[in-house]
Amino acid sequence: MTTSTEPAPATTSKFDLVALIPFIGWHLLLIPGFLFIDFKWEYVALVAVTYFLRMFGVTAGYHRYFSHRAFKTNRVFQFLLAFLAQTSAQKGVLWWAAHHRHHHRHSDQEDDLHSPSRTGFWWSHVGWIMSTKYEATRFESIRDFARFPELVWLNKHHILPAMVALFVMWLLGGLPWMFYGGVVSTVLLWHGTFTINSLSHIFGRRRYVTTDTSRNNFFFALLTMGEGWHNNHHFHQNTANQGWFWWEVDATFAILKALSWIGVVSDLRVVSEQTKYAFRIYTEAQKAQLRAETRFDAWRKRPQPPAPTPTPEAMPALQALAPRPALER
Ligand SMILES: [Zn+2]
Ligand SMILES: [Zn+2]
Repeated sequence: MTTSTEPAPATTSKFDLVALIPFIGWHLLLIPGFLFIDFKWEYVALVAVTYFLRMFGVTAGYHRYFSHRAFKTNRVFQFLLAFLAQTSAQKGVLWWAAHHRHHHRHSDQEDDLHSPSRTGFWWSHVGWIMSTKYEATRFESIRDFARFPELVWLNKHHILPAMVALFVMWLLGGLPWMFYGGVVSTVLLWHGTFTINSLSHIFGRRRYVTTDTSRNNFFFALLTMGEGWHNNHHFHQNTANQGWFWWEVDATFAILKALSWIGVVSDLRVVSEQTKYAFRIYTEAQKAQLRAETRFDAWRKRPQPPAPTPTPEAMPALQALAPRPALER
């Protein structure tokens, strides 16, 4: 990966077929693996453990910590989190977080690198992340973490943690473990993560008015340890919890909470009551807009400008819902 500080070129949706070869090749390894390695139920458990452990690295690391600074931790755990995230083979931690910050700045607008409504499902799912056009790390968007030389080094050698993880699988269980814990689990982890950029802007319910097509989806939240509450997240980005109501399962936040009890992480930002219940004072026009945007085929339409915000008369009602400050720590 190059490490230029130049901004990436303007958006495209032209598939880079050569760059997709390793990705497709990794999928093709599934065929001989399933044909020639005798199945055992313990391999299903191995896939589950390696999938969810690394999904935690993706969601708590790449996403909530490095992209959104939703909690604090020490320098050693910060490095371990980056390393764990990179075992998922989704490029460097600074690359990932900088591009994700860019997504939030331009969600479903012209400059968004992965918008299903603008560039189609497959491009938003995998085309953009594999494209050599966006290989450079956008250092201008990640200066806060680029001051740690160990993270810059890890970002540069981004494939190393994934290789180490494969080697550990081989040491522990030979070829079968390498296949199930490395190949099968990584393919599932890629598609599990990529659903957030693609399907979470297509299927699900919209509770909050945002300038993008983000949605909340229970099933994706299970697969991604809480990232499926994507409409919540686009409405208010910087919280360590993305499931805001009791039924909105968020395994990543539960683990972060447990880690905070033993002092590994701290200052978990959580959503305020004011933000969580903002939908209660939506105007009829806003409610109608959300209903229309939740329709199955609505994702194909580019997002409309938001309906007018609540009138000043409605603001006291909003404030009454807010016994606590906007961002609790
Ligand atoms: Zn999004
Ligand atoms: Zn985000």
